[in-house]
Amino acid sequence: MRHIAIVGSGPAGYYTAEAAQKQWGDDVRVDVIDMLPVPYGLIRTGVAPDHQSIKAVSQRYEKTALTENVRFVGNVMIGRDISAKELKALYDAVVFATGAPNDRALGLPGEDLRNVFGSAAFVGWYNGHPQFADLDPDLSGRNAVVIGMGNVALDVARILSKTDSEFEGSDIVAHALDLLRNSRISTITIVGRRGPHQIMMTPKELSELMDLARASPRVDPADLPEPEEDAFLEPGVRKSVGLLRSFAAIPESERADKRIEIDFDMFASPVRFIGKNQVSALKIERTRVESGRAVGTGETYTIPADLVVSCIGYRSSPIPDVPFDERAGRFANDGGRIESGLYCVGWARRGPTGTIGTNRPDGFSVIEKIAEDFDTGAIANVPHEGRSGLDKLIAERGVDVVTFRDWKKIEEAEEQAARKGAPREKFVDVEAMIRARL
Ligand code: NAP
Repeated sequence: MRHIAIVGSGPAGYYTAEAAQKQWGDDVRVDVIDMLPVPYGLIRTGVAPDHQSIKAVSQRYEKTALTENVRFVGNVMIGRDISAKELKALYDAVVFATGAPNDRALGLPGEDLRNVFGSAAFVGWYNGHPQFADLDPDLSGRNAVVIGMGNVALDVARILSKTDSEFEGSDIVAHALDLLRNSRISTITIVGRRGPHQIMMTPKELSELMDLARASPRVDPADLPEPEEDAFLEPGVRKSVGLLRSFAAIPESERADKRIEIDFDMFASPVRFIGKNQVSALKIERTRVESGRAVGTGETYTIPADLVVSCIGYRSSPIPDVPFDERAGRFANDGGRIESGLYCVGWARRGPTGTIGTNRPDGFSVIEKIAEDFDTGAIANVPHEGRSGLDKLIAERGVDVVTFRDWKKIEEAEEQAARKGAPREKFVDVEAMIRARL
């Protein structure tokens, strides 16, 4: 019997569990351990609440979770309740699928001013992550600034723009909806340090800006390269640049009835945040792109900024005794292998890139590595206790485990609490989640 522990129950975790089942069938026992009492990681607290069709992939993870040889062990934090060393001693292989939950800092003066947030915190807030439920951003100012030209920046700009009725069918949490309802934001500036050809926003997501009820995107035609230069772009980027071109061509008459402007400020690199206690402005240096890199021109200017959300990427959380690459912000690994017996997958392995689907081949490839390590004897062929050993430790320490069956009760309570037309109203604190299973 193989005993595998997977730490993290997001997409990378469940695809790895699925791969383990395919590899060893009835000869494997997989424990999927999560620090929260609820599964699915980024699907629950990262994917935008108005992107329910993407969230539907959790049905696939549920299938895996409900099989005999896979179990969910919620509300257990590795590195706090159980150490990585203890876990390694209990299982043949431990796979960290812990994602990249921390914001990468810009490292600029004034970054700690009030109302400057990283996207992990801000997205976590509107998605009901218990860690960020109390964020309470101030949306009473007129000017929001979103830093970065990736899909997370787009998510944030779109959520800040939508009307109440555009959130119908979403699972945005009530505390966010209440604040957004009274938001006075009228300009959302998306600040990108490079130009249109370096955009990371993908076409489908970018095109959603065209359909907003009260917001309209604006691109300065002067920022766009000559159209014939687009021919050399990779097709996806070419489509995105095509959309930027169409934003630049929106006639003023069409903008007239839109209260919010989403303004792309490209070739713009943040320099410092300005404000007394709370942010009020952002100083920016104009850039040009040389050999693909943003280079400062020395020209600076300042834009008003009552709220800033920095969407420039994420870092994984280190876990004591697990080798960590500080510079890259993820576990030190070679193609998913940290050392024999310890592995990582998904964003914890490769950093915060790719779509949900990218994690599937990732999960399968880490299981191949583990199988290889069994074959070569790199994983010692000694019996491991697996889940019975974990249960003993958990009982000794009085940790209150949440099972998958418990989760289904929590889910049912969330569905019953949903406002009209919404799939669920999430619990946003751990105690409330735990109480809901009783
Ligand atoms: P991303 O796509 O890597 O974009 C990060 C952005 O931040 C880039 O524009 C980058 O500019 C900028 N940036 C980085 N460091 C900066 C700095 N010091 N100063 C100014 N700007 C800086 O990351 P993301 O938006 O966080 O998304 C993470 C992953 O999740 C991506 O693969 C994304 O596609 C995926 N995702 C997908 C969806 C969806 O499909 N609906 C939704 C959300 C996220 P440079 O390019 O110049 O470095």
